[in-house]
Amino acid sequence: MNQLQRHELFSRLRALNPKPTTELKYSSPFELLIAVILSAQATDKSVNLATRQLFPAANTPAKIYDLGIAGLSKYIQTIGLYNTKAKNIIATCKLLLEQHAGKVPRTREALEALPGVGRKTANVILNTAFGEPTIAVDTHIFRVSNRTGLAPGKNVLQVEQKLLKHVPAEYAVDAHHWLILHGRYVCKARNPNCVHCVLIDLCEYKHKISTKTEDVSLFPPNTHTKKSNSQTLKAKKKRS
Ligand code: SF4
Repeated sequence: MNQLQRHELFSRLRALNPKPTTELKYSSPFELLIAVILSAQATDKSVNLATRQLFPAANTPAKIYDLGIAGLSKYIQTIGLYNTKAKNIIATCKLLLEQHAGKVPRTREALEALPGVGRKTANVILNTAFGEPTIAVDTHIFRVSNRTGLAPGKNVLQVEQKLLKHVPAEYAVDAHHWLILHGRYVCKARNPNCVHCVLIDLCEYKHKISTKTEDVSLFPPNTHTKKSNSQTLKAKKKRS
């Protein structure tokens, strides 16, 4: 994929969803940090269900630290690996209180020094809480980048480095969420919805179209801002 095509790819994703964001519910960088730590190998939906109860009761490092591991576990026990996550979150709260005055740090080094926070989580926080042009390559972004030819790579770090190099500057901050949403709702792992994909002519995936498709929306209803590709195609057919 060349740079002109990369521009076109993001311009189409932006047209569909001008203000993409995470599906995790949060109201502060600290709440986002906790939600992202909880979301490892768990769905955003399951995390939102847990934090809906947790955050009204405790949404600062001091308050969550006061809950202790046992108290925090009661709120998050529906989420996979909750024991380890509870331990990491309590240790993270302690460190935030001791070294960062209870605030979420804005540097990669300081974020990655927090228990339970790796490169991916640090990238999400830098991007979503602080507006930095970072890209946290998860399973969806890895798949979309490889299938389309946008930024092919053998591992997540390779893909991240290629994306940072090749995503046009004007799309750099939102690229993370556009690619995740595209992978989650359209370019799905098992049945990519190529027939209704706005990127089909740009995509280099050799199995596109020939895969089984199903009629689903491009994005969840609340992120729809324009007619989907399928709607536009149907309207064009009617007119002709
Ligand atoms: S055409 Fe198919 S494989 Fe390519 S990005 Fe769209 S859904 Fe994914």
